[in-house]
Amino acid sequence: MLLSIVVPCFNEEDVLTRFHDHVADELAKLEGEFEIVYVDDGSRDGTLPLLQELAARDPRHVRYVSFSRNFGKEAAMLAGLRNAAGEAVVIMDADLQHPPELVHRMVALHAEGYDQVVARRTREGDRVTRTLTARVYYWAINRLVDVELVDGVGDFRLLSRRTVDAILGLGEYNRFSKGLFSWVGFRTTTFSYENAVREQGRSKWTFGKLLNYGLDGLISFNNKPLRAAVHLGFLLVLVALGHAAWIVGDALVNGVDTPGYVTLLVAVTALAGVQMVMVGLIGEYVGRIYYEVKRRPHYLVKETHDGTSGGASEAR
Ligand code: UDP
Ligand code: MG
Repeated sequence: MLLSIVVPCFNEEDVLTRFHDHVADELAKLEGEFEIVYVDDGSRDGTLPLLQELAARDPRHVRYVSFSRNFGKEAAMLAGLRNAAGEAVVIMDADLQHPPELVHRMVALHAEGYDQVVARRTREGDRVTRTLTARVYYWAINRLVDVELVDGVGDFRLLSRRTVDAILGLGEYNRFSKGLFSWVGFRTTTFSYENAVREQGRSKWTFGKLLNYGLDGLISFNNKPLRAAVHLGFLLVLVALGHAAWIVGDALVNGVDTPGYVTLLVAVTALAGVQMVMVGLIGEYVGRIYYEVKRRPHYLVKETHDGTSGGASEAR
């Protein structure tokens, strides 16, 4: 059996060699062949020269694809999956936060017949605020989207060939892998591992990026948020009607009076706010449609280990 390891890399020169040695060691212990598919996501440091060196040193096991610029981890994973030939594919981060020792466990579970073997990290070592936000977010999002999203579950997982093919068949431009993996289904199993703190380099996640990622998850799967907006609209109309009836009744019984400046101000600003959010929400969906209809490629390839196009021109 051929096992492929897909590794998206963005400015990972500090850890890459260590990562490679570690993974290659682990994989050599396994029965069967393996290949490591590195995707250089437009790194601006020495990542690409390192990959060239690795490929020259070990051409049997190392393949790489290098992007023309930074296209993001989602695009890098897609390129990796497209270029992976294995019967099973493991996606791993380059920063050693995904312990290579776990690969043999994944392979064993795959041999038992699982199509997706998911490693779920505990949140030990994370900041309390981050853990808490994550918990609230997952609680809320699972009420809004159809697919199940689990906290701590990321891209570190093994996928069977048919799962990979199913994912490659999803040609959408806005890719939210966490949801796509869950959407394709098949026999899935999850095991937990202890969270490793990043050893070198820095996480590329800023608060703003996390927030946008969260919104992506919410909007990528269905139009339930739009439906919720409609419900809220109805609710507000009902409240307004009730309030109007009450004012009219009050005027009939107690005579006309004109207080309520504050009420008016609050009502107007609140409603304006709600409307802005809703218009923004519609805009989000329209924006997505805009990107989808352009049918641009997810990434452009600058070079590969063997000088091929690396699947760049493949239609989505
Ligand atoms: N990565 C990438 N493109 C990007 C950002 C990140 O390919 O634009 C890769 C990065 O090299 C690493 C993995 O995605 O292998 C996870 O990135 P990071 O460690 O920054 O994220 P975190 O572990 O904090 O979620
Ligand atoms: Mg990391």
